[in-house]
Amino acid sequence: MKYFSETVALDVLTSTALFDLIQDLVFLMEEEHETFRYIYANPAAFNILQLQENIVGSPIENVMSPEQAEILIEHYREVQSTKKSVEFIQRIETENGEIVGETVLNPIVTEEGQCKYILAIVRDVTERERAKRALIETKEKLEVFWENATDPVFFINTEGEILKVNSAFEETFEYSEKEVLSRKGSIVPQNMKAAASTLVKKIMEGETVNSHETIRLTKSGNPLNIISSYTPVRNANRDIIGATIFYKNVTELKKAEKDLQKSQEKYKLITESAFDIITLIDPAGLIEYVSPSNEKILGYPDSAYIGNPFTTNVHPEDAFGLIETVTSLMEGDKPATIEVRFQHQDGQWIWMEVSPTPVLTDGNVTQVLTIARDITERKRLQDKIAKMAFFDHLSGIPNRRTFDNRLQAAIQQADRSGKKVAVLLMDGRKFKQINDRFGHDTGDAVIKEMAIRLQAAVRPVDTAARLGGDEMGVVLPELDSLDLAEETAKRILASYEEPFTFNGYDIKMGAGIGISLYPDHTANEKQLIKFADLALYEAKKVDRDEYIIYNRT
Ligand code: GH3
Ligand code: MG
Repeated sequence: MKYFSETVALDVLTSTALFDLIQDLVFLMEEEHETFRYIYANPAAFNILQLQENIVGSPIENVMSPEQAEILIEHYREVQSTKKSVEFIQRIETENGEIVGETVLNPIVTEEGQCKYILAIVRDVTERERAKRALIETKEKLEVFWENATDPVFFINTEGEILKVNSAFEETFEYSEKEVLSRKGSIVPQNMKAAASTLVKKIMEGETVNSHETIRLTKSGNPLNIISSYTPVRNANRDIIGATIFYKNVTELKKAEKDLQKSQEKYKLITESAFDIITLIDPAGLIEYVSPSNEKILGYPDSAYIGNPFTTNVHPEDAFGLIETVTSLMEGDKPATIEVRFQHQDGQWIWMEVSPTPVLTDGNVTQVLTIARDITERKRLQDKIAKMAFFDHLSGIPNRRTFDNRLQAAIQQADRSGKKVAVLLMDGRKFKQINDRFGHDTGDAVIKEMAIRLQAAVRPVDTAARLGGDEMGVVLPELDSLDLAEETAKRILASYEEPFTFNGYDIKMGAGIGISLYPDHTANEKQLIKFADLALYEAKKVDRDEYIIYNRT
């Protein structure tokens, strides 16, 4: 507390311009009889109270309303008796309406301990009080919401200082309201302070800020992902006096999002590194995405596919089947796998197994995802297996099964065309000796050579087959007579005259041939073969390469 010397105080107040410039209202009151009178008022007082005439010299009740005067005199008396400052809020009526004054009364005490003068300093806090009231009103309106909000909600003033927080705020950030209001710690990370104050400035200028994403810290320093929205609070004059801030703590959501992203990245990695080609087809049938494995398998860059029909580079014979499979899937049918040839950039066809899967959005097929696998190797194996069933594994020419099938087909064809079918059965001459002299491997090579020469001696429509051991057979379809059969037999035997050179040896091979004719000799298929066999038996009796026609000897 300061004690003013009566004379010094009066001198200072009346002879200097000390209070001329300050914004607060300053009055010097002097006790006189039962009341107090003004002996000084600064320019701000005249200004703010809109005083028309000079109040200096007037008792307080001439300036203030009776109620106001009564209250003030009571405060003055208190100051006089306690000789201590008194602070209070007073409402003062002016021409322009009520103003709210935060008032401090200071006693001016003489050396004798008398207190005759009182210095009153009134700060105009009308705006502040109005803001406070508006906030309270807003708060009341929001009370229900405020109490029940599970998300942090708080009020700030125009400076960005927090005035009030809800319990969700306290829970989330671990600060009590008291701690927040006494500015113990801050939820704004150090490096975001500037951004936060820029934001507050924007809001106070009337900009609306919604869904602003940021980071805020708890008391223990945990960073939280926050989405905030700001609603300005206005007073009766529509001036912005603060803001209500709603926070949504999305830390968990962010974490989930990150996890999802991670798993998506993982998924992406799988698709990108997978050896299968993954293609995404839009409802118009155009390729939206193709995985990088495409380039490894088919040689083309992604750009050759993106935006093009899903049948791009598909073999013309396979395109229809693929279209059918994909469109039926889009129409809701079950997924089906299809084998399709795709053209490699180098021109060759690559067999792929394509498995389409629908991509559903709200239960509707919006896209189709296809997984295409290179099945070249499988196809090769399949072909090999198929070949093994119909071809002789040693010589590579058709086997007995194919021989039988072709004979049956040739007979049926002959029945329709009225033409004939010849069967030639052939057996190697003294083949055992070749095995004995040169070994089994050489015997194998000779069988292969015999097959090659046999095949070279017949027409493309004829079937030359290895029936087993050193026995081979030929089906000659669509003949007019035996002539061509005889010619063929001669050609075969002639082709065996040249020795086969293997491992440095010249090996002479020889054969006998028996011939039967359908339907001339018999209309029965089994019989036909039997007759050829009988003729062969006859041919083998001769000591040279010979052919015999059934029934001619
Ligand atoms: P022939 O003049 O009477 O026909 O006497 P051949 O020695 O040719 O004897 P035959 O036709 O009765 O028997 C064929 C022989 O061919 C029997 C077997 O030792 C041999 N042979 C059968 N299959 C194979 C084979 O796959 N590889 C080899 N190297 N030899 C075979
Ligand atoms: Mg033989």
